[in-house]
Amino acid sequence: MEKGPLTEEARLERMSAPLLAWYKENKRDLPWRIEPNPYKVWVSEIMLQQTRIEAVKPYFDRFMKELPDVAALAAVEDDRLMKLWEGLGYYNRARNLKKAADVIVREYDGVMPPQYQELKKLPGIGCYTAGAIASIVFGEDVPAVDGNVLRVLSRILASREDIGKSSVKKKAEDLLKRVMPKGEAGDFNQGLMELGETVCVPGGIPKCGECPVSRICLARESGLACELPIKAPPKKKKIEKRTVCILEHKDLVGLCRREDTGLLASLYELPNAEGHWNQKQLCQVFHLKEDQVVSIEQLPDAKHIFSHVEWHMIGYRIKVEGELPKGLIAAKKEELKTIYPLPNAFSRYTKLIK
Ligand code: SF4
Repeated sequence: MEKGPLTEEARLERMSAPLLAWYKENKRDLPWRIEPNPYKVWVSEIMLQQTRIEAVKPYFDRFMKELPDVAALAAVEDDRLMKLWEGLGYYNRARNLKKAADVIVREYDGVMPPQYQELKKLPGIGCYTAGAIASIVFGEDVPAVDGNVLRVLSRILASREDIGKSSVKKKAEDLLKRVMPKGEAGDFNQGLMELGETVCVPGGIPKCGECPVSRICLARESGLACELPIKAPPKKKKIEKRTVCILEHKDLVGLCRREDTGLLASLYELPNAEGHWNQKQLCQVFHLKEDQVVSIEQLPDAKHIFSHVEWHMIGYRIKVEGELPKGLIAAKKEELKTIYPLPNAFSRYTKLIK
């Protein structure tokens, strides 16, 4: 019998067997787990960053149908790619997917490199995604540490270290690398992720009664499960007031295209301006001639939260006669569904375009 408290490494070593057995019994049927290949795992992992599994499923199916492999992704038009990504947010993730696909086609004959270190060199692929692809598809013994895994580890070890710190993530990767069962890294990593998603859940009471590793969990033993993990609160977001306009003329709607860099780069948007403007000010703000305005309707307020900024929006529907102001793209209403990628930030208003 061992004497004294277990080291962190020894505690985590005891996690492998029950975790693997539990994962094999309980793993969910997810679209990217059916006949997995590196491309499917890659796309799913990028989509799953900051988005729930249930929300990702329809996007994943649609994406795979239209872009079934790396070559198709490398060749897709930017606007089409953005349209396929519309609603998932964080559009740079999609741009990086395409950039990486380009590199794979040019430098790797269209075949994803199987090694963790090579995968990490591709645009948009960091330690977590490289670890997930390398372990799940290629069986390399490398960890894949995301927020779910950090939460589970922090609770098992009753750690009060801030899981938002990169040093804590690095320490978790080092520890897992040492304790993971050789040759089973894929299931081990997925088991940890799945445990975090379904049992050791965030923002609520973890289901310790159903947990395969409860016997070694220090947070459960000391009643700290709901207090952990520790994560420093996010920085306060800047609030930006905006006025959004649905500018309509018959079956046409005015759109703008955003700059090529910065927030929502290159996407289309409804005309909008910084500040909250009243009805009398709209013609000046949106460059309209007063005699072309047929009607103005106030629309509900809306809010959209980005990673660093919050838009607090008021909206109007302005019907005009003659033609839409110069400089705007006159889009047919049905083309909003099929052609133009419009970010979620405007969804409160785009839903009102009939
Ligand atoms: Fe999480 Fe509870 Fe399992 Fe510990 S016992 S890992 S707190 S679910």
